[in-house]
Amino acid sequence: MANEIQKVAIIGSGCAGLTAALYAARAQLAPTVLTGAMPGGLLTTTSIVENYPGFPEGVDGTDLMISMQQQAERFGAVVKFGSTVENVDLSVRPFKLTVDGSEMLTQTLIIASGAGHRHLGLDSEKILDKKGVTYCATCDGALPMFRDQPLVVVGGGDSACEEATFLTRFASRVYLVHRRDELRASKIMAERALSNEKIEPVWDSEVSEILGAGQEKVSGVRLNNNKTGEEQTINCAGVFIAIGHVPNTQIFKDQLEMDDAGYIIRTEGAQTNVSGVFVAGDCSDKVYRQAVTAAGMGCAAAIEAERLLASENQ
Ligand code: NAP
Repeated sequence: MANEIQKVAIIGSGCAGLTAALYAARAQLAPTVLTGAMPGGLLTTTSIVENYPGFPEGVDGTDLMISMQQQAERFGAVVKFGSTVENVDLSVRPFKLTVDGSEMLTQTLIIASGAGHRHLGLDSEKILDKKGVTYCATCDGALPMFRDQPLVVVGGGDSACEEATFLTRFASRVYLVHRRDELRASKIMAERALSNEKIEPVWDSEVSEILGAGQEKVSGVRLNNNKTGEEQTINCAGVFIAIGHVPNTQIFKDQLEMDDAGYIIRTEGAQTNVSGVFVAGDCSDKVYRQAVTAAGMGCAAAIEAERLLASENQ
């Protein structure tokens, strides 16, 4: 990896990264995809994706990502699994990446590093992580520790509604704890959750503590009603936190323009403020954040990288 200069390197292997890989591969640029710790991205943590065009019955998130990977590989993309980019130097081309301790040089870079789960920021959340606190119902919901138990889902968006609905398959009851009295989720997801007999919404409530640190497993949550100031405790075996995401952009700090929340700013199309560095998907999009928009952005980034290289006769 050390001496060869890549034409296109892609950081991330979600919808944005793999679509960029498909287009760059078909342009015969032999892109290298560095998957990071979560090959396939966040869609692999969801169950059925019902809103990706072309699948009238829905499609399993992991299956969709494997298909995208195979499609990109068919045209010459090289997918390096588990490869984590530890550092980048974007001050001069070719750009220098440090990948699992080795140096990699690339003429263009497409950043599709996605976003990670937002945390509540409580000490008890950290202590009980993986001991009943989780950020992914489809990954953990079926664990024996949650079977026939009351569970809490925190959040009011599509993710929270989807997770709460999914968890009703296993739980005795699901409390949907939201900090306001109105869900942010799309109408269809909200209605599906609120019409489920096993789901009980708890409005205007914030988690002040997750209980069970002493026993090393979640036993409940302490809630604070932000309108009345009243406290209540709900006994539960699991807390599923679904309060949105934060962009995975820390390693680009001070090198690329970002907004206050850390989303990389696109100056024009898929371009960043550094010529030769393009961006696609959730690390740059706090508005749409859909699989299909991420895929579209990946396509745009690859086309722009190809055009830049062509203009330089590369
Ligand atoms: P989201 O739409 O940003 O919703 C986050 C929720 O968490 C909001 O209700 C927010 O409350 C709450 N929240 C944020 N910070 C909090 C905190 N510190 N404490 C307590 N609550 C907090 O995130 P999302 O639900 O993950 O959805 C992200 C995107 O993915 C959306 O575009 C969504 O449509 C999409 N998505 C689609 C599907 C699907 O179509 N199958 C499934 C999942 C997600 P407020 O409402 O008060 O701000």
